[in-house]
Amino acid sequence: MNLDHYKQRLLDLETKLVARTSHEADRGRDQHVDGVADTGDASTADETVSENFSEAELDSTMLEQVRDALRRIEDGTFGQCVVDGGPIEAKRLEASPWTPYCLKHQAEREADVQSSTL
Ligand SMILES: [Zn+2]
Repeated sequence: MNLDHYKQRLLDLETKLVARTSHEADRGRDQHVDGVADTGDASTADETVSENFSEAELDSTMLEQVRDALRRIEDGTFGQCVVDGGPIEAKRLEASPWTPYCLKHQAEREADVQSSTL
C-alpha cells in the first residue's frame, strides 16, 4: 500500500476542512447578528444560522475522521477496519481515505443509524 499517497490526500483534506470550518463558524455568527438587527425576523435568521452550523459540524466530524486516519498511518494500522482489524477495500480507501471501516462494518453502522432514527 502506498501510504504516502493517502497521507498526502488526508493532509490536503485536513487543510481544507480547517479553513472551511473556521470560515463557516464565522459566517454563522455574522448572520445571526445581522439578521436580528436588520430585519427583526429572528426565525428566518435562526434557520440560516443553524444550517451553517450543521455544515460546520459535518466538517468537524469529517476533520476528526481525517485526523484519526492520519494517526492510523503513524500507528501502522491504516487500511485496517477498526472493528475487526480486517483489510479495508482499496477502492473504499481511494474514494474516502479517512474511512475507519470495511464495507461490511460500514453497512452495519449505517443500518444501525437508520433503525435508531426510525
Ligand atoms: Zn470490518
